[in-house]
Amino acid sequence: MELGIAGKWALVCGASKGLGFGCAQALVREGVHVVIVARGAQALEAAVEKLLADPARPPDTAVQHVAADITTVEGRAKVFALRGDYDIVVTNAGGPPPGDFRDWDRDAWIKAVDANMLTPIELIKATVDNMAARGFGRIVNITSSSVKAPIDILGLSNGARSGLTGFVAGVARTTKLASANVTINNLLPGTYDTDRIATTMAAASKKTGQPVEVLKDARRKLIPAQRFGDPAEFGAACAFLCSQHASYITGQNILTDGGAYPGTY
Ligand code: NAP
Repeated sequence: MELGIAGKWALVCGASKGLGFGCAQALVREGVHVVIVARGAQALEAAVEKLLADPARPPDTAVQHVAADITTVEGRAKVFALRGDYDIVVTNAGGPPPGDFRDWDRDAWIKAVDANMLTPIELIKATVDNMAARGFGRIVNITSSSVKAPIDILGLSNGARSGLTGFVAGVARTTKLASANVTINNLLPGTYDTDRIATTMAAASKKTGQPVEVLKDARRKLIPAQRFGDPAEFGAACAFLCSQHASYITGQNILTDGGAYPGTY
């Protein structure tokens, strides 16, 4: 399917690896120029090289990068100093750490809310009115399946991301944006094979004394697809939401979890 977005400009946050990289790769393969963001310059530069070397990248598709912490005012200023007229924005940053809510103080909560709620809201605020004026815009927020089925040890994520989900539900449905072909959706990953999962599995292994592979196998068996997701397939779902064909999809929470969520709705 021709997605009809070649030549657009996308900002993809948290994109040196994992799900953000999968989104950047899928967009680049559609001929979308990307600006990718992450804090670590070395991994970010390696990601740029990988995207530029991709044989599926149409010639002249630009790949630029900004090494910045997207959760800070300064980081976002660096990103918008490069350009302000993004057609597509994929919001993403690292997830908050797992733990027990009894151990989280106000600072831990502020950090989680800042990264997983307020940062996407700031990015939406900075871009959607310009998108509306140009008659095209796509925001995709990478959230989590925990928004629909909370995970006990991820209370910081459950809470902060639910705040973002509520905000998006309202703003995406405003006539000013929806009638101007600006959509805002949340893409909810289940379990994907990324560094994030390696880190949470290593922490669980330390806590339980069970080998990481045993824990991974047990986790895979809970997923009807019997496997972890591939960031490339997450990227493909993101690219479709960013396509011309998805202009009638807005304010939605779309699970990509191999069937793991057990509910009917
Ligand atoms: P990942 O493999 O750890 O990659 C995270 C990416 O974001 C890296 O490029 C990282 O680079 C960048 N990043 C982190 N914090 C940042 C910041 N403050 N500013 C700019 N860039 C930042 O993680 P992932 O698995 O792709 O997960 C992406 C998001 O999806 C996370 O919020 C995660 O909680 C959520 N999620 C993932 C899964 C899963 O199965 N993987 C499931 C549910 C939810 P630097 O560290 O160099 O900045």
